[in-house]
Amino acid sequence: MPATRLMPTEDAADLIELTREICRKDLAPKVDDMERAHELPRDVFRTLGRAGLLSLPYPEELGGGGQPYEVYLQVVEEIATVWMSVAVGVSVHSLTAFPVATFGTTEQQEALLTGMLSGEQLGAYCLSEPLAGSDIASMTTRATRSDDGSSYTLKGTKAWTSHAGHADFYTTFARTADTGGKGLSTFIVPADTEGMTFGVPERKMGLHSDTVGEVLFDGARVDASRRIGEEGQGMMMALTALDSGRLGIAAAATGLAQAALDVAAGYAKEREQFGRPIGTNQGLAFILADMEAAVTSARATYLHAARLKDAGRTFSKEAAVAKMICTDAAMKVTTDAVQVLGGAGYTQDFPVERYFREAKVTQIFEGTNQIQRIVISRHVLAD
Ligand SMILES: Cc1cc2nc3c(=O)[nH]c(=O)nc-3n(C[C@H](O)[C@H](O)[C@H](O)COP(=O)(O)OP(=O)(O)OC[C@H]3O[C@@H](n4cnc5c(N)ncnc54)[C@H](O)[C@@H]3O)c2cc1C
Repeated sequence: MPATRLMPTEDAADLIELTREICRKDLAPKVDDMERAHELPRDVFRTLGRAGLLSLPYPEELGGGGQPYEVYLQVVEEIATVWMSVAVGVSVHSLTAFPVATFGTTEQQEALLTGMLSGEQLGAYCLSEPLAGSDIASMTTRATRSDDGSSYTLKGTKAWTSHAGHADFYTTFARTADTGGKGLSTFIVPADTEGMTFGVPERKMGLHSDTVGEVLFDGARVDASRRIGEEGQGMMMALTALDSGRLGIAAAATGLAQAALDVAAGYAKEREQFGRPIGTNQGLAFILADMEAAVTSARATYLHAARLKDAGRTFSKEAAVAKMICTDAAMKVTTDAVQVLGGAGYTQDFPVERYFREAKVTQIFEGTNQIQRIVISRHVLAD
């Protein structure tokens, strides 16, 4: 059942309707086959881009949709009810444009952002490395400045990059000084850069249409005009971007949980045992009640963080809370959905086994839920 939403404007309500229509017409018919084939649906991102749904949270004067985060996130949630890999992709793409939109010069915004927000391009976010996951300050990918300062040469390996090999640009964090987290810088690397290659895609548990793999830099030359901000500001940019990115994952996880609840509720009304629908047993109905409570409270939690962000207030703690609550809710609700369907839930005849596999990763990426607890506890214990 579609979620009941109180949208702030009529435009925003129309955007939700538009999203539902695109999901129904362009996403739903493709999701099963493409997930099974492990294919990234590049054309679906183009469709979303042309409808303006890939640039919603960025200001109109920069080429974005000028929508508050509260609205953008609900669009991501709606997409996730139909295709989680695509919803995650929309959130990742949004993250990739953040450094240029927030810290880029006017010239960089004119040169780079127009394409990024046009809806035609798809971005990738190269932060993690094989030996630097939760501890990103320990990354070793290096960017060496040329003697005349006109370019940088990148060397190193990025891991787990969503859209690797499919993206048009790679928002990449690399070391420009040996000063830990203070020695990182941000670069926008075009896909056709010589010296950049891609590893074999990871064989994952789920999100099969989100191609994830290594990005290998071996003497990749990047023009200095593609360094965003000053040298040394990379860690600050990555962490600031992640506060917003975490909300995208929180919203997607909520949509996934909503989809699982909807399938479970429908099944509980239809399936009969002992001569009556299984949903008429209080023992099963209470599972559905807990699922509904988990989805509704997850949604309220990410919307609270989004509204703080939209009001220009600090929202870092609330974003970490939302990421943790929504993704834990997704794991619990999708697990319960499999249970409600019994043996059928364990087969590929129903989508809940896919939802269950997809939920797990939301507790891991964009900062594991242990890292969210570190962020939250630091805020709680701060003076
Ligand atoms: C499908 C997928 C897509 C991804 N997409 C991207 C992407 O597009 N771009 C990108 O840059 N990265 C991406 N990632 C990487 C992701 O962000 C990392 O996997 C994540 O940050 C965790 O890093 P790690 O896997 O190296 O785990 P590790 O950091 O090695 O952690 C392993 C375990 O130790 C725990 N742990 C670590 N440190 C602590 C601590 N201090 N206290 C308590 N527990 C701790 C963690 O919570 C975890 O349970 C993706 C990952 C996956 C699986």
